[in-house]
Amino acid sequence: MTISKIISDDKVSAAKKLIEASRRIVITCHKTPDGDALGSSLGLAAVLAADSNKSVCVITPDTPPKNLGFLPGADHIVIASRFTDKAKSLLAAADLVFCLDYNSLKRIDRLEPLVAQATAPRIMIDHHLDPEPIANVTISYPAESSTCVLLYRLLHQMGWDSRINADAATCIYTGMLTDTGNFSYNSNNPDLYLIIAELLKTGINKDTIYNKVWNTNSSNRLRICGYAIYRKMQLIPDHCMALITLSREELNEFEYIKGDTESLVNQPLSIPGIVWSVFMREDEPGFVKVSTRSTGTFPVNTICERLFGGGGHCNAAGGEFHGSLADAVDTIVKAAPDYDIYLTENLDR
Ligand code: 5GP
Ligand code: MN
Repeated sequence: MTISKIISDDKVSAAKKLIEASRRIVITCHKTPDGDALGSSLGLAAVLAADSNKSVCVITPDTPPKNLGFLPGADHIVIASRFTDKAKSLLAAADLVFCLDYNSLKRIDRLEPLVAQATAPRIMIDHHLDPEPIANVTISYPAESSTCVLLYRLLHQMGWDSRINADAATCIYTGMLTDTGNFSYNSNNPDLYLIIAELLKTGINKDTIYNKVWNTNSSNRLRICGYAIYRKMQLIPDHCMALITLSREELNEFEYIKGDTESLVNQPLSIPGIVWSVFMREDEPGFVKVSTRSTGTFPVNTICERLFGGGGHCNAAGGEFHGSLADAVDTIVKAAPDYDIYLTENLDR
């Protein structure tokens, strides 16, 4: 069995040409970077940095979560919210900019004007629906489960397999793992396992990576998630829906830091009969971050697009609400009946 070549040849050669012609390469990913955004960025950096003629850097819009600090290269990330001038000068001087794991400049927050003003050509590698025309080479395949798996495919099709060392493999594997919930959704493509087999040959330890990503919690994180499930989870059986909210006051009480509620939104989906789950976090007074998950074909991305100016994938999407937490709840509860049409086909799991 061999790994199928799904990226068109013209895109592979266009990307290769641009990389070979560039000396100063900047890699960017979306705000609140997750395992896939960071994994693809640092994985690509590890591959490119092996060429001593190139200077390669990764810029994130904001601070990456602590639990991904183990990724090789994480210490060298330029965080644009803290080092804005550095991010600006790196982008201004770049010969090539990578846009990883995002489909629109809106997803990079304060990096948007800096990337927009940079004159370097751009390569997008992404798996979100409806990519905007922001890149010279757009490698966008929404059927793929992660940007990391697409990055692997690109390197493989460029004939660069041997450049994927253990550092790069750790990063790529992490994104494949996190964007499939430890291979529990979007994970039936046999290619995934052929790719994992190749990554393991570099000497990485997938069990250690699993423990670092999923099995490392602070006591505050465990407490806040326990509280959220015990006291704050509402089930709305008429719409097969679960809803969790955390107010600014509650977040303060548990000394919430970014990342503490990561994956909380998935948990109600384990209840039979729950098809979609919504988590609303009042990050600031008047600003609510919305996270949604679903099973089967229930399209939470459509809901997030319509109600929260966001988007994402059919089973994992998010957005933002400008207003009070109560109004955010009201918005989703009022809209829920509109999506009942998707319930019957997804109840039988
Ligand atoms: P999470 O719920 O883990 O924050 O995000 C899940 C997925 O939803 C992300 O991978 C991303 O595709 C999408 N997403 C989350 N927040 C936003 C947002 O504010 N805007 C858009 N367009 N997509 C989002
Ligand atoms: Mn992703």
